[in-house]
Amino acid sequence: MELYELTLQQLIKELESKRTNAQAIMTAVMGRINEVDGKVQAFLTLNQTAAMEKAAEFDRQPWPGVIAGIPFAVKDNYCTRGVKTTCASKMLEDFIPPYDAAVVEKLHGAGGILAGKLNMDEFAMGCSTETSAFFPSHNPWDLERVPGGSSGGAAAAVAADEIPLALVSDTGGSARQPASYCGVVGLKPTYGRVSRRGIVAYASSLDQAGIISKDVADAALVLGIIAGHDPRDSTSEKKEVPDYSTVLTTDIKGLKIGYPREYFQQAEGNVGTAVKKALLEFEKMGAIVEEVSLPHSEYALPAYYIIGPAEASSNMGRFDGIRYGQRDNSAENVAELISGSRQRGFGPEVKRRIILGTYVLSSGKYEKYYLQALKVRRLIRDDFTGVFNDYDVIIAPTTPNTAFKIGENASDLITSYRSDIFTVPVNMAGLPAISVPCGLVGGLPVGMQIIAKPFAETTLLNTAYAFEQATDHHQLKPDLGVR
Ligand code: GLN
Repeated sequence: MELYELTLQQLIKELESKRTNAQAIMTAVMGRINEVDGKVQAFLTLNQTAAMEKAAEFDRQPWPGVIAGIPFAVKDNYCTRGVKTTCASKMLEDFIPPYDAAVVEKLHGAGGILAGKLNMDEFAMGCSTETSAFFPSHNPWDLERVPGGSSGGAAAAVAADEIPLALVSDTGGSARQPASYCGVVGLKPTYGRVSRRGIVAYASSLDQAGIISKDVADAALVLGIIAGHDPRDSTSEKKEVPDYSTVLTTDIKGLKIGYPREYFQQAEGNVGTAVKKALLEFEKMGAIVEEVSLPHSEYALPAYYIIGPAEASSNMGRFDGIRYGQRDNSAENVAELISGSRQRGFGPEVKRRIILGTYVLSSGKYEKYYLQALKVRRLIRDDFTGVFNDYDVIIAPTTPNTAFKIGENASDLITSYRSDIFTVPVNMAGLPAISVPCGLVGGLPVGMQIIAKPFAETTLLNTAYAFEQATDHHQLKPDLGVR
């Protein structure tokens, strides 16, 4: 196996045993990126020179840390000190943050080395990376298809063996939906589990940091690094962080799994079948698998497209041409400066959401739409709470379909939005969830979503780990024709 193909845990072992060094790993990763990223287009910025220097420094004098000397990449909405952070928007085309996001600080603290920044939908609004102001990324399993979104660059990069680990954000499914489309692992922790400081805000009551990795053990390892209270993020919780990695077990005997009828009804036939097959695996391992109901599921997506844009319209207010990025220098007064800068800086999807969000928050519309959406959100949460009284985890497809073609949904936004119908409810309820590969349909990966109670990441990871150990779906790799 080549170094770039290894998981984090394997790389750690290689380094510990001195069979390789940090420079060899970084060189392998950069070589792989040079080899395949012309096709995949996952990266917006490469941190090559700095990363190679850091690796050399590490080899001269190794520093301690769980992922010491190992490369990682982050979605381009994570602030990185001295490294361009564009959110895939013209608005922030030249923005260089003066500080690191809290989780980037933590990965540095654990010894990791930043290799680059990953493509995404503009400001994390989208399902395919097609709203990126720069270019769409391509699904390594079929280059004519989307890798999903908004963290499509991250999922594509991990699937194409360009990077062993990527950090992302997940507001309505952005860690899980692209992970599902690209056949990798995507973890969204409980809302409040991980600090959001320094991740450019989209919809603050839904946003959470996420992880995209090659396997579940790596996701557990990284969650242990990034989780925990941060006084600089008022929504982060003061809860003990378990050592997720060392408590991982495949013993799930007696685990109670519910599979929601409504989700399976809405999934395409063979996607549902692939996940049902996975449920049989769980029964073989001694879990109890039963059908459950989440009756308000169908209202989650419409409510999300009110709450998300409402919060986005407020968060996007800070991009006014004065404080950050794009500025309309031809403006003759302040009003023109602001509107001209926003007009040039934002792409159509971001504008659409700002307009929608402003509308649903306006007087007279607020009660009719926004308040109503908040009530729906509560019903969705109550649905989950009800099921979790009797079950440990919920298992469903991550997406109703497999990856669609680039451009296929260009004139049909709703179809594109619908790829998140099974992921959005989880954010509405603030729950932890993970997508793991569970097979191929028509040569394209299918993801299985496991959802757990708030802060039950240990149960979540164990369930995913047990499945992974019993099957080999996560070992399947796309053929990019260069290996
Ligand atoms: N696709 C969803 C949206 O467009 C979710 C994106 C996300 O999780 N950032 O809003």
